[in-house]
Amino acid sequence: MNGTLAPWACDPRRSRGRRIAQPPAPPRNEHQRDRDRIVHSTAFRRLVYKTQVFINHEGDLFRTRLTHSLEVAQLGRSVARALRLNEDLVEAIALAHDLGHTPFGHAGQDALHECMREHGGFEHNLQSLRVVDRLEVRYPAFDGLNLTFETREGVLKHCSRRNAERLAATDPGGPARRFLDGTQPSLEAQVVNLADEMAYHAHDIDDGVRSGLLTMDQLDEVPLFVHWREQVLAEHPALRGQPGRRLLFETLRRMLSAQIAELVRHTAAAVARHAPADVDELRRLPALAGFGEPLREQTTQLRRFLFAALYRHPQVVQTTALGRQVVAELFDAYRAAPREMPEDFAGADDLPRAVADYIAGMTDRFALREHHRLTGRRLFDGA
Ligand code: MG
Repeated sequence: MNGTLAPWACDPRRSRGRRIAQPPAPPRNEHQRDRDRIVHSTAFRRLVYKTQVFINHEGDLFRTRLTHSLEVAQLGRSVARALRLNEDLVEAIALAHDLGHTPFGHAGQDALHECMREHGGFEHNLQSLRVVDRLEVRYPAFDGLNLTFETREGVLKHCSRRNAERLAATDPGGPARRFLDGTQPSLEAQVVNLADEMAYHAHDIDDGVRSGLLTMDQLDEVPLFVHWREQVLAEHPALRGQPGRRLLFETLRRMLSAQIAELVRHTAAAVARHAPADVDELRRLPALAGFGEPLREQTTQLRRFLFAALYRHPQVVQTTALGRQVVAELFDAYRAAPREMPEDFAGADDLPRAVADYIAGMTDRFALREHHRLTGRRLFDGA
């Protein structure tokens, strides 16, 4: 349960509500109820077999979208608690933020976007909203999970102007509106965005070293990492040059703790300066959650490093290129033979969108199985 909420926090008792009104479900408040709906959804269970950076079958210890989402929820809740924000809402947004991700990480999404170029494109944030608004099939009276505005607002992190106009036309009071008005989402949503970034920066270093694609020496290029590593070594000199993972873990642990402390400090100061009366006033202000210098600059350096050294590592590029090919070939196969999809998708009026929805929902391994079934080829060893 939340402690006393700050005046600018999202109070569940003052939620803008659900698209289809439903009676309350005590003892849960409306955002706890959203969180529960997300945890029970099919899309949430699929996150366990979706790639973050490493394809699911590459190893059992790498992050998947499920463990990533749990880490985001945990970091986000720590920050929310310290800032007297709505922890339940932060948890709901964090657990739902990646529901729209395709199999094979960003490569899968790029491939699907390319396939959908003539048909309105594909954006994973928009797809996360589509999953909770329409694609989950659970309730007798409506499609989707019928979540509160505040959770949907947090899920729709980015949106192109064209898509925002299209969404706002059918849902004028919905979460796309802010991309046309140029306003910010709730502070809870802003915190989840930053928790997302902090989580993947830290766990991608961890997974990168674990996989052997990154070395501890390469991390000398990352001042933020070096700062905390030197502090650990000063306190535990025996760790220098030792094999094993204690130095890495302890460095990452301190790095994350420092980021959280700085996020809380900087955000609390920004909020105090503006002192918004409530969340609606906060939405009209510039984004208030963030880091001050030098952490902001150090975070940018870390992101650049991960792009160059890990996300564009030849081995990552090679496997993600195969993932891209799987998605593109599945798209063509289902468009040519829609009856290969379940009836809900095969009978849809907008076939390209239905194919994209069907593929986007797949786990990595289901996509590989379907690809093999429909093409007779196996693109991944051991898959
Ligand atoms: Mg994420």
